[in-house]
Amino acid sequence: MMNKLADDCFNQVEDLMSTAQALAILRQRTVIVTQDHLENLPLSQGLGRILAKDVTSPLDVPPHDNSAVDGYALRHQDLSTDGASVFRIQGRSAAGHPFAQPLGPGQTVRIFTGGVMPAGSDTVVMQEDVETAGDKLTVPPGLKLGANRRHQGEDTKLGDVVLAKGQRLRAQDLGLAASVGHGELALYRRLRVGVFSTGDELAEPGTLLPSGAVYDANRQILMALITGLGAAVSDLGILPDRADAVHAGLERSAKTHDVLLTSGGISVGEEDHVRGAVEALGHLNFWRVAIKPGRPLALGQIGNAAFVGLPGNPVAAMVCFLRFARPLILGMAGAVDLDPILYRVASDFDFKKKAGRREWLRARLDRQPDGTAPRAVLFQPMGSGIINSLVQTHGLVEIGEDVTEIKAGEPVDFLPFDEVAQ
Ligand code: AMP
Ligand code: MG
Repeated sequence: MMNKLADDCFNQVEDLMSTAQALAILRQRTVIVTQDHLENLPLSQGLGRILAKDVTSPLDVPPHDNSAVDGYALRHQDLSTDGASVFRIQGRSAAGHPFAQPLGPGQTVRIFTGGVMPAGSDTVVMQEDVETAGDKLTVPPGLKLGANRRHQGEDTKLGDVVLAKGQRLRAQDLGLAASVGHGELALYRRLRVGVFSTGDELAEPGTLLPSGAVYDANRQILMALITGLGAAVSDLGILPDRADAVHAGLERSAKTHDVLLTSGGISVGEEDHVRGAVEALGHLNFWRVAIKPGRPLALGQIGNAAFVGLPGNPVAAMVCFLRFARPLILGMAGAVDLDPILYRVASDFDFKKKAGRREWLRARLDRQPDGTAPRAVLFQPMGSGIINSLVQTHGLVEIGEDVTEIKAGEPVDFLPFDEVAQ
């Protein structure tokens, strides 16, 4: 596979696309650009990073049969079928301290959770179920063969591929890699993503707000989302609404990033200079995707950097990022699992919409005291500049193209922010 974008890889394909079509084309054109440099890093630095090679187990886990409980290991064949059985306690097998000898007839060993099953033993009786007197152990009838015994290799077998190339590492993945003995993993280098905001009205939080200005919120949202995807994010600041400044900023940063992301400044309004700059420096395509919120998706290329122009309104910027830029970034970084899972919940609202486009509404999930499915309660007001609508909610209700009406109680698809915004 090449590790460079094809020339004008996002050139337009359809006139008006559905979300599914847009995502399919995006996926098809996405190229992994991070395989030019692999990093072997310790597990402690792997969280959120993407595996560049399959991880294979060089051993069985657990490496030996062991006990699942605290109790006594014995040979099942020594148990009487109709009454209690008496055994002689020979010693102990604690975790990390195996009992060295094999068990003979009528013999037992005190064993603890994780303790290696002594040779010859096949069953463990729980300590709560027995009586002891000196070295005598009395076991009631009814114990099943193999009870409380964990088998060698029941978790992982020697040679198993435990984690596949392209997996984005979660806490439990790191634990699995550790359990098979790997101290380091081969990872793709981090994707380098630069984030600009655009607009003369934007001010840096922490500074005084000039008259007519608003604080730049998008850059914080986008940088945090990108960091959560395991990429290396650069804060490229605010581009003013001036053609030369936008041109210079994009040209410079395209040389050192795999993806450049802007928000705002991409409509045809007079103050919007991003379009002209990207067109002059490379290619820019407007994908007309039937969605709300969000204007046409601006996808382009400047040299080897992919360019994504998100809407300026914070809600639209975040929704478009989560649904379109996120899979692009993950795919370019080498991840294979790009699409979030949507969950079905009950709507708590009536809603009408136009057919033919997909819509996202911010909603809170309300637990139901009667134990029925949680209900999605829409946030008001719904404007795409209302940042509180992203904060006082749990995620997005996604309403498909064909749906024109939803009645309270009907099921709807729900995309939790936790699924995608980390
Ligand atoms: P634009 O697409 O540049 O016309 O911006 C659309 C709206 O989004 C305007 O109200 C902008 O002020 C607002 N906006 C653009 N960028 C940001 C930002 N980084 N933070 C907060 N609001 C923004
Ligand atoms: Mg603007």
